[in-house]
Amino acid sequence: MSNPSGKHWGIDIGGTTTILGYLVIDAFKTISTIQTIPSEGPEKLLTRIRRTISNIDDSPRSIGAGIAGLVDRKNGILIRSPNLINWVRFPLQEKLINMFRCPVVIDNDCNTFAIRAIDSGEIPSDGLSLLITLGTGIGGTIIHNGTILYGTGHAGEFGHMTVNVSGESCPCGSRGCWERYAAAEALVRYFKLTGSDSKNTDPRKIAQLAKTGNENALKAFEEFGEWVGVGLANLSHCLSPSGIYLAGGLVNTFSLFIEHARREFNRRCPYEWNVSALSSCSDAGAEGAAIMGRALSQ
Ligand SMILES: [Zn+2]
Repeated sequence: MSNPSGKHWGIDIGGTTTILGYLVIDAFKTISTIQTIPSEGPEKLLTRIRRTISNIDDSPRSIGAGIAGLVDRKNGILIRSPNLINWVRFPLQEKLINMFRCPVVIDNDCNTFAIRAIDSGEIPSDGLSLLITLGTGIGGTIIHNGTILYGTGHAGEFGHMTVNVSGESCPCGSRGCWERYAAAEALVRYFKLTGSDSKNTDPRKIAQLAKTGNENALKAFEEFGEWVGVGLANLSHCLSPSGIYLAGGLVNTFSLFIEHARREFNRRCPYEWNVSALSSCSDAGAEGAAIMGRALSQ
């Protein structure tokens, strides 16, 4: 089934863009960034993916795909995604196998990002590490001695641990989930609650304001950081990691919230603070997906 002359492809399907590329020896070449249009459903996006890959490689050697959402890796199914509302219980692995007739593996996008970070040495291959992506939602990965721990399949869904019993309702069906307090939408909510311009809904703009000393923006980041610290303390109690690595869209604002997070963390647990930010490039998830796919044929 695997063609030795084909390429190892990686696909990162996000809520706004889908990135495609392949491995060239140990580097990654990004081929295309396709707009993801959640409302048109999965089939049209898959058709565009097929066209892009087939133009370059008529017989891929392997395909790995990372996708933002809850993934049943064993059965190759995207169970649900906060951004891709029409993709409920979508059999992505089977669809890609039927399209390309090669080995295919799919996983959550935080896990594919982690695979790349382990491969590049940014996350150590010994000890217990946690990767947490802060962005539209919160993604999580548990890495033990360089291997991702899945438990029965979904270990690392830190974004949906409850931090406020009767708190904000979450699209997952629960309420008070961590990602309702420490992801992009929450930051915007805190900013609005200070009485600021309700049209300002872009975290990057709030960060710009905070950097110029805007008190409301700084206040929003303070509350945001405290909730980040609450979650990190919970995770340290449960898992005692040797390192916690933050990544994702909001990591660029690390300096604006991390001291608040640290203060809250120290208030809630006596353990060593070992949190750092990972630098990331936009195609890191697609590269990790390709590395994951390549492992299928080795
Ligand atoms: Zn939730």
